[in-house]
Amino acid sequence: MKDKTILIIGAGIAGLMAARILSAKYKVVILEAANSAGGRIYSSAESSFGGIVEYGPEFIHGDAEETMRLLKEAGIEYKSIHGAMYRKEDGVLKEARDMVEHWDTLMRKMATVKDETTLADFLREHFPGEPYRELRAQAERYAAGFDLADVQQVTVKSLYDEWANEDERQYRIPAGYGSLVSFMVNECRKNGCDIHMDTKAKEVLWQQDEVQVICDNGKTYSGNKLIVTASLGVMQAAAIHFTPVLEKQMAAFKNIGWGKVIKIMLAFDTQFWKDDMLFAFSNETFPTWWATLPEQRPMLTGWCGGNMTKTLVSKTDEEILDIALHSLSNIFDLPITQLKQNLRGSKVANWQKNERVQGGYSYSIPGTAHSRMLLNMPVDDTIYFAGEALYDGVHPGTVEAAITSGMFTANKIMSE
Ligand SMILES: Cc1cc2nc3c(=O)[nH]c(=O)nc-3n(C[C@H](O)[C@H](O)[C@H](O)COP(=O)(O)OP(=O)(O)OC[C@H]3O[C@@H](n4cnc5c(N)ncnc54)[C@H](O)[C@@H]3O)c2cc1C
Repeated sequence: MKDKTILIIGAGIAGLMAARILSAKYKVVILEAANSAGGRIYSSAESSFGGIVEYGPEFIHGDAEETMRLLKEAGIEYKSIHGAMYRKEDGVLKEARDMVEHWDTLMRKMATVKDETTLADFLREHFPGEPYRELRAQAERYAAGFDLADVQQVTVKSLYDEWANEDERQYRIPAGYGSLVSFMVNECRKNGCDIHMDTKAKEVLWQQDEVQVICDNGKTYSGNKLIVTASLGVMQAAAIHFTPVLEKQMAAFKNIGWGKVIKIMLAFDTQFWKDDMLFAFSNETFPTWWATLPEQRPMLTGWCGGNMTKTLVSKTDEEILDIALHSLSNIFDLPITQLKQNLRGSKVANWQKNERVQGGYSYSIPGTAHSRMLLNMPVDDTIYFAGEALYDGVHPGTVEAAITSGMFTANKIMSE
């Protein structure tokens, strides 16, 4: 007989991971605002795209131990990706075999930074002037594109920890990341978890070992402990109210960087890029594009992250499509009219407009390490937090981060 109930807000991968572990010992109830599980993981089979479209994550970056362990357990295939990187430089799109000049010096210098210096201050101090212009631009583009980071705020140390551990290997899941969510939902249900969709938590009333969550569908759920896994964007917007107020914790959420991202997926009738192209980098508004390798499909995905999204986030999907096509036209030297004639379908994933997520993923700013430590400590052994933004390790802002955080919090409760 399971005599204690754990409530979990959010059926993203962190919430599902925590639920699966905890349901071995406790009654677990998940409250999810959306009408399906997965959160930022959203894979959809689209006929005009000839297969799966990933609105959120699609890569496994390097050695993501927990993600791979789960995929293996679920019997879900993941495939290694090999392909060439192209860069548009001086008006020519060519294969980019080397990193920008001085990159090794930059990494060596980054390794020495132990405090919370930001990338902007670091570059200003150590790599000033004309000789390093391209290096600075490249570092800033990388921080914005890969980490979704504001260069004025992101700490050098956090970037170094991630970049230095970066693994060349990347993988894709042919059946989509969503297949992992389906597996986890089934596992949770098998263990007796209740998962309530369309159930948005708005108010938490709590005292030690007693929690009530009031939802916007008028229902109230009671339990002994609560894990909140809503995204950092939702927490920073204070969309869930706590009584008594969690002042320190709410302030701590504000001390973690929250990145913005827009992803656009375009399906074409015919492919106009080289078969070996995996990535194409440029200085366009949509600077980064990638193809579907190892699968060959006439589909490209455009990525705009960090500061670069500033002018885009409030635009309509049609306007974003137009801007993306301009970027593509400049990169591949093709007239817009030709691209439009060739275009079979488009999907825009503007995560800032999704009120259940409100952004992309987290990065570290001065004070983040301390905030994460605080948020990883239970409040009166009753309120816990988990999710991608609370992870402290070499895979920040990933599915791996979310899985690891969900595990960490669940194991803490299991051991109490
Ligand atoms: C565009 C994009 C591309 C990405 N690409 C990659 C990639 O290639 N590889 C990779 O590893 N990672 C990638 N990521 C990051 C990865 O998707 C996330 O780190 C991970 O999915 C986060 O999981 P989570 O459970 O912490 O949060 P979420 O997935 O955000 O889950 C939180 C859940 O809480 C729910 N919720 C919110 N508010 C409430 C409420 N009030 N009441 C009830 N429920 C609520 C939400 O609906 C959601 O289901 C990407 C992210 C984005 C946005």
